[in-house]
Amino acid sequence: MAQISITVDGAALKLEADQRPTHIFADNKEVVVCRVNGALKDLWTELSDGDVVESILISSPDGLAVLRHSTAHVMAQAVQEVYANTRLGIGPPIKDGFYYDFDPVNTFNPDDLVKIESAMRKIVKEGQRFRRRVTTETEALKELAHEPYKYELIGIKGPAGEEASVEVGGSELTIYDNLGRDGNPVWSDLCRGPHLPSTKHIPAFKLMRTAAAYWRGSEKNPMLQRIYGTAWPSQDELNAYLELLAEAEKRDHRRLGTELDLFSFPEEIGSGLAVFHPKGGIVRRAMEDYSRIRHEEENYEFVYSPHLTKAALFETSGHLQWYAEGMYPPMILDEELNADGTVRKPGQQYYMKPMNCPFHNLIYKSRGRSYRELPLRLFEFGTVYRYEKSGVLHGITRARGFTQDDAHIYCTKEQMVGELDSLLTFVLNLLRDYGLNEFYLELSTKNQEKFVGEDADWAEATEALRKAATAQNLELVLDEGGAAFYGPKISVQAKDAIGRTWQMSTIQVDFQLPQRFELEYSATDGTRQRPVMIHRALFGSIERFFGVLTEHYSGAFPPWLAPVQAIGIPVADTFSDYLGDVIKAMRKAGIRAELDASDDRMQKKVRNAQMQKIPFMVIAGEEDQKAGAVSFRYRSGEQKNGIPITDAIAEIKKVVAERTQV
Ligand SMILES: [Zn+2]
Ligand SMILES: [Zn+2]
Repeated sequence: MAQISITVDGAALKLEADQRPTHIFADNKEVVVCRVNGALKDLWTELSDGDVVESILISSPDGLAVLRHSTAHVMAQAVQEVYANTRLGIGPPIKDGFYYDFDPVNTFNPDDLVKIESAMRKIVKEGQRFRRRVTTETEALKELAHEPYKYELIGIKGPAGEEASVEVGGSELTIYDNLGRDGNPVWSDLCRGPHLPSTKHIPAFKLMRTAAAYWRGSEKNPMLQRIYGTAWPSQDELNAYLELLAEAEKRDHRRLGTELDLFSFPEEIGSGLAVFHPKGGIVRRAMEDYSRIRHEEENYEFVYSPHLTKAALFETSGHLQWYAEGMYPPMILDEELNADGTVRKPGQQYYMKPMNCPFHNLIYKSRGRSYRELPLRLFEFGTVYRYEKSGVLHGITRARGFTQDDAHIYCTKEQMVGELDSLLTFVLNLLRDYGLNEFYLELSTKNQEKFVGEDADWAEATEALRKAATAQNLELVLDEGGAAFYGPKISVQAKDAIGRTWQMSTIQVDFQLPQRFELEYSATDGTRQRPVMIHRALFGSIERFFGVLTEHYSGAFPPWLAPVQAIGIPVADTFSDYLGDVIKAMRKAGIRAELDASDDRMQKKVRNAQMQKIPFMVIAGEEDQKAGAVSFRYRSGEQKNGIPITDAIAEIKKVVAERTQV
């Protein structure tokens, strides 16, 4: 047999021409797929002289995607085994898992998932090889005549060569056969691949749930049934993932919002539009009050603007050009009619605002500005309305009406570097004050195809953002070409208590709006110059940040944010009056304290306080009353007895003032 010379993971290797990557990596079960000359390939792919082969581990992003897609494949095979005549849609990998769309004879129910899962386990155990087979359009159409959705995809695939630039061989039409023990195909699917070498390389998987989904995402198409699943390199990782989901479920702000009586989404108002109840109102006000104080310290000036405006403003800003579908449709107002019903004066279009920036620009423009006034920092808790698709709405973290803690900073080019640096420090410190401590930064740079403004300005602003980011000593992820067309941006990503990442603040340089609004200032030399504009929202929106903090703290807010900071629980009724006076003194000292004067027994009151996640239970019995003291019971269950009343008040006031968790 002839020999070929190739490179494997950087080292030269000579081998028989019929050897495949699956043989080369036979000793390392972690290698499940490979790159050959840069393109992702099955381990069964044939090699040629001079090929450069790189191993890909199952735990790498590519490896995980191939594992999950292959598991989707196995699921489709199992579904067709268990429910003949089920038609196949598509089955891609997604974050943490995969799905496959089906057109079943009967809608799937939870019992079906159990059956499908056990059929999948059998296929995995058999170790069926995934074999790639190149076919022609004519052949594929014949072979897949009974699969109308796959049939349709073949048509879309287009002429050969179309995708060749993206991936070598990508223009080929391929079918994957699963080979049974005897080497004969037991099941086939139209797919581009690649896949795991065989089904036995699927270490751990689970089917999660079903959902309805339109074929190819359009409501004009038939409704299909989607099954979601997850797959991991080990059972331990699968278990950890399922635990994380269970933990996230317990912390879900939508559930805690109801349990803790914080907010709701009344049907009568409409989806994505929340009302905050008194307890949620307290948390929200505490969040806003502190933010206001900190912004005042940083020399922000507070402004207010209306919720709706004539269309012209959003024409000037460009929103109606590139953001119209995210806006609520216009209202036509002030139309005047003649007696016969014909229009004398046409009406004006008014829009709910999706953003505050244009209003702040009008405030800037309301009079001439001098360099002496810059940087000018305008801040507003500005409520905006965005028509989000109902499918993406998610409690208060993704709503249709929400309030941004929005600021726009107008400065000179020379001031930009210093401004961005102090801004980022301010943003991170404020987030830390609310209890988030783990961050990384993402820098979005110019998309070479799509941008406004001068190259030099972009370079300068991007460099300023990079400098500011580097100065924070945090991990910096580059989002190359990911900036919006009007300027580069830094976003702050925060990790919560269970390790999930949330995008929080954004700091966005804007070269476009100052131009569109013709913003100017008079410079030291008397010339008229254009200011730089920086957009920044620190929480994103108050509602969203509220939701994130609720999940981060699992509803057990630190005392400074807790709706009720202390609850009085008498050991028996006879101590109610004494404890009532203590609670009164606490309220006088500015503590949000309440007495539980209900008929419940003490143990029930303690349980209720635990359910409400109140930081301090203030308990009084005979000894406490005699000593002029109280006992504290904390959320942890820990208890501290005989605390003199003044000390008890001082302890609560201290943790509130220092914003520490207890
Ligand atoms: Zn596939
Ligand atoms: Zn803005």
